[in-house]
Amino acid sequence: MPQNGNRIYLDYAATTPLCAEAGEAMREVLDHVPGNASAVFQTGREARQSLERAREQVADALRAWPDEVYFTSGGTESDNWALKGIAAQYIGQPCHIITSMIEHPAILNTCRFLEKLGVLVTYLQPDRDGRIAPESVRAALRPETRLVSVMWANNEIGTIEPIGEIGRIAREAQVPFHVDAVQAAGTLAIDLREMPVDLLSVSAHKLYGPKGVGALYLRRGIQLQPLIHGGEQERGLRASTENVAGAAGFGAAFERALRDRDEECRRLSALRDLLYRALAEGLPGIRLNGAVSERLPGNLHVTIPGVTDRSLIPLLDLNGVEASAGSACTAGSYIDSHVLQAIGVPGSELHGALRLTLGRYTTESEIPEAARRIIETVRYLRGNQHV
Ligand code: PLP
Repeated sequence: MPQNGNRIYLDYAATTPLCAEAGEAMREVLDHVPGNASAVFQTGREARQSLERAREQVADALRAWPDEVYFTSGGTESDNWALKGIAAQYIGQPCHIITSMIEHPAILNTCRFLEKLGVLVTYLQPDRDGRIAPESVRAALRPETRLVSVMWANNEIGTIEPIGEIGRIAREAQVPFHVDAVQAAGTLAIDLREMPVDLLSVSAHKLYGPKGVGALYLRRGIQLQPLIHGGEQERGLRASTENVAGAAGFGAAFERALRDRDEECRRLSALRDLLYRALAEGLPGIRLNGAVSERLPGNLHVTIPGVTDRSLIPLLDLNGVEASAGSACTAGSYIDSHVLQAIGVPGSELHGALRLTLGRYTTESEIPEAARRIIETVRYLRGNQHV
């Protein structure tokens, strides 16, 4: 994050700042490409060209075909569309969906809505590291299972799921497999020509693109009902005038993210490990949540013993560290993390949960300073708690 005073931003899993490449691509469209991408005259054709260029960039980044990429308003819409769009194929018929207990609310709340409409949902329990066992997917399959949906990487604890194995099980059973790859895209290698994944959600603002734009990948041959009805945009599957500038920013950001992906992953895991060691030294007894090796490189999630009230995040904010207790959507609303509960973190430790997520603009010099401020804040808090 471009420095804001001497604040340290450690919440890249919540959102990332726009990169220069995305900003330039968006400005070009905003200033010089005013048309409606569906219009048949020249300004329309120019807008169409920008949109299709962006679609190619997103498709290339996913190793998919451009006609498999549908632009949406973000990860939430893509998740809603995948689940509701499949369920809508089976109105009046039995419909069963398999997902996990640690999905993002965009999946879990959609499942709860679908349950009210008569869809049966199985929520798989992860192990202590947050891993969904592929065999648990096999065991949950039924003749009326219409979709399996498991995230590529968890947004709170950073655990990377065994997507390949789960996908092979779904494919053997001829059940479409949806993956929420919002946290993985731009960081992990995604090759949809190789992976047995049929639908996949991505979001631009998690990979240094703009907010409010994302995509759903839909493998050729997979049938899906629209979520948003109206005009014929996005090949009749997602109505509304296309957000050309947003798509251009998304495409440019995704392309940029892949340029130095491996090197950046190594750099981030090294900084993440450095931060963990510094915290563990200053705060004995802290516990790492999530998997040790199968983990997003920029994700550190710990529980800190002795923190019993909810003021850690606001106090860190006062001390110049921007971090999160759980996912961004629950920050501020004080809901205990469903992910930590599912992996068995005791209720008494939930208030001491701290998610620190590093990204492209995190520098080595920020790490000891962040650790110092966090340790100082926790020591202060332990002496002054009031709940
Ligand atoms: N899925 C996951 C795993 C996420 O982390 C998020 C955002 O936090 C979303 C979905 C929602 O994405 P968006 O903010 O683009 O709607």
